[in-house]
Amino acid sequence: MTGRLEEKLTRLLGTRSGAALEKMGLVTADDLLRHYPRRYAEPGQLTDMAQLALGEHVSVLARVAEATVRPMRNRGGVLLQVVVTDGRQRLALTFFARHAGALRGHEAKLVPGRTGVFSGTVSAYRGERQLTHPDYVLVGGDVEDADAALDEASKPMPIYPATAAVPTWRLQRAVRTVLDPLTEDDVPDPVPAEVRASAGLPSRLEALRRVHAPATAADWRAGQHRLRYEEAFVLQAALAQRRAAAAQEDATARPPRPADDPGILARFDASLPFTLTAGQRAVGTDIADDLARPRPMQRLLQGDVGSGKTVVALRAMLQVVDAGGQAALLAPTEVLAAQHARTLRALLGPLAEGGLLGGAEDGTRVALLTGSLPAAARKTALLQAASGEAGIVVGTHALLSEHVQFADLGLVVVDEQHRFGVEQRDALRAKGRVAPHLLVMTATPIPRTVAMTVFGDLEVSSLTEVPAQRAGIRTHVVPADNPRWMERTWQRVREEVDAGHRAYVVCARIHPDEEDDATGKAKAAEFDDEVPEFLDGDAEERPPLRAVLEVADALRATPALAGLEVGVLHGQMPPAEKDAAMAAFASGASQVLVSTTVIEVGVDVPEATAMVVFDADRFGLSQLHQLRGRVGRGSAPGLCLLVSTAQPGTPAAARVEALAETTDGFRLAQLDLELRNEGDVLGAAQSGRTSSLRLLRVVKDADLIEEARRAAVALVDADPGLSGHPLLAAAIAAQLDPEKEEFLERA
Ligand code: ADP
Ligand code: MG
Repeated sequence: MTGRLEEKLTRLLGTRSGAALEKMGLVTADDLLRHYPRRYAEPGQLTDMAQLALGEHVSVLARVAEATVRPMRNRGGVLLQVVVTDGRQRLALTFFARHAGALRGHEAKLVPGRTGVFSGTVSAYRGERQLTHPDYVLVGGDVEDADAALDEASKPMPIYPATAAVPTWRLQRAVRTVLDPLTEDDVPDPVPAEVRASAGLPSRLEALRRVHAPATAADWRAGQHRLRYEEAFVLQAALAQRRAAAAQEDATARPPRPADDPGILARFDASLPFTLTAGQRAVGTDIADDLARPRPMQRLLQGDVGSGKTVVALRAMLQVVDAGGQAALLAPTEVLAAQHARTLRALLGPLAEGGLLGGAEDGTRVALLTGSLPAAARKTALLQAASGEAGIVVGTHALLSEHVQFADLGLVVVDEQHRFGVEQRDALRAKGRVAPHLLVMTATPIPRTVAMTVFGDLEVSSLTEVPAQRAGIRTHVVPADNPRWMERTWQRVREEVDAGHRAYVVCARIHPDEEDDATGKAKAAEFDDEVPEFLDGDAEERPPLRAVLEVADALRATPALAGLEVGVLHGQMPPAEKDAAMAAFASGASQVLVSTTVIEVGVDVPEATAMVVFDADRFGLSQLHQLRGRVGRGSAPGLCLLVSTAQPGTPAAARVEALAETTDGFRLAQLDLELRNEGDVLGAAQSGRTSSLRLLRVVKDADLIEEARRAAVALVDADPGLSGHPLLAAAIAAQLDPEKEEFLERA
């Protein structure tokens, strides 16, 4: 793609404007045109200033009479107060910001004497009517007379993601300067004409015009639809190409042993203390079939917490070991890797004490290889991996990037890591002479279209049932400001411990004096058209988040817990200390473990029956569900106490109550999606793909994604190399490039 869209903004708009945009990451004309409006201010009828009703959305034509900036005494921050008039009535306009600099854009435009159309919702302050952060279009400058201003004001006004330095009106002007002179030839369209025709879509240029300069609301909606389609189409075409390429790739077939020559898998199955669930058997058969083929398996296994994914993975690994290969199991943290190694050794028993791979003894070895191992242990593990003595090597993702040699790596299992994206899979494939088989496991239920978008090149299996004889979990909400309930909470913990069980206590942060950032609230107050966060009274009234170190001290002094060992676990501890804390809790040397969400994924201590979560209302639903899955894993019933500071009736309170009512992970995931916005969904489910998806909403646009996928698959089937569709091929290449870079930076 070369041509006008590749031109630098510094050249098109001048060095000063161009440099300001560059600071926002907008370097070329194409970058700017892909900087889509966040929303649109819909035009209202012009309202008579004598008739402004409280709470109504109005647009008034008026002249600026005064404009003053002053600091706010009580709250900190600054306030721009503007008074506009139609000659008879006066109306106040109010803009808040943290710093005077953020108001400079408004100040520069709202000078006394200028006329414009101002739109916003009428509120009252000390009896006076006002508009807070109104949208506005000025007469003069952009538009020379009142008629033109009215015409402009009758169109939806695009509102751009902006910064203090480049407010939305300057972005709008820059976009128009770049966009208006473009012709169809200047704007290559990755969606081929025949696909456009059958889906009833306008050209890319037309879509850009509708999105950036709509005459009506229908315009920008149609423009957005077309651009969303394009995002879905390019992505699905890329994934279809990957699938096609993978189908050509070679892998070593690892078929199961025949019945008359059983191996370690058969012996393991015979020694299992429980029977596999129907789901575990069915998924196991699919995986066994995949492994028997000379093409790399690419499978995602999703199953709720406690659905028994580990055994499924272990059986797959044993099939590979039986066939003479090795398997690697990757965990997201060293704590989890160490735990997995322990679990696998325990499950395998004597089978994990084998001699050499393929020797007369059918057993094998499980090696743990993490960065924090002492040098000698590390050397041994490296040797066992390289010689093939260890049929199973457990570690973190560092296993892939470090210089770890395998004798014959046949299968990689990635646990609790749905963020294991396309690029990581590529890195993995580069590891051996032929690609190893791959099994990705996640407990986060992923809606179909998210799976299609993020893992479009994987087959998906699900474990939908949880093994029987689980005693279940009871969940209660505990109001943090009720001392009697809090006292009862610690009594319950004591009772659990006295019955021979253990308890987790989860906090959102580590140190009591670190900033409250665990709520994930975007610090987005810089945007000039957004009411700053500190005006949100809700946030002000909340007590600070409880912290691991403070809570651990408090619990050691709590009479109900007298005599108990209270352990601490958090991400800032050195790995050896983390291991020791986990091991102490697993063995029962400590009975209460105060920790951050590091225990969120996969930690399995069957004796842990109770969990107390502080500030539960500040966590996401899925995360709480994951946390809760850590208890009630044995035969004793689990108890989860959600300590909440949420006021009744707020969305935060609704979240914790929902969790108290159901343990169905899929139901909760759906609720979570409804309560979050799309960005979070994608952010949580993918790695590095946000760069290419700007408008597409993976949940709401499910139908559109399916439609684009069908069109993309048909096109790639007919033209796998895309030689007849160079613009699409270029769009795919452009999309993958920045993602690669991002991946390399993280690695
Ligand atoms: P997850 O899917 O969350 O990783 P695990 O694999 O850790 O779940 O399994 C949770 C617990 O259930 C483990 O203690 C495991 O041994 C046990 N388990 C797995 N499968 C079965 C089964 N079919 N019957 C009974 N218990 C099982
Ligand atoms: Mg697990």
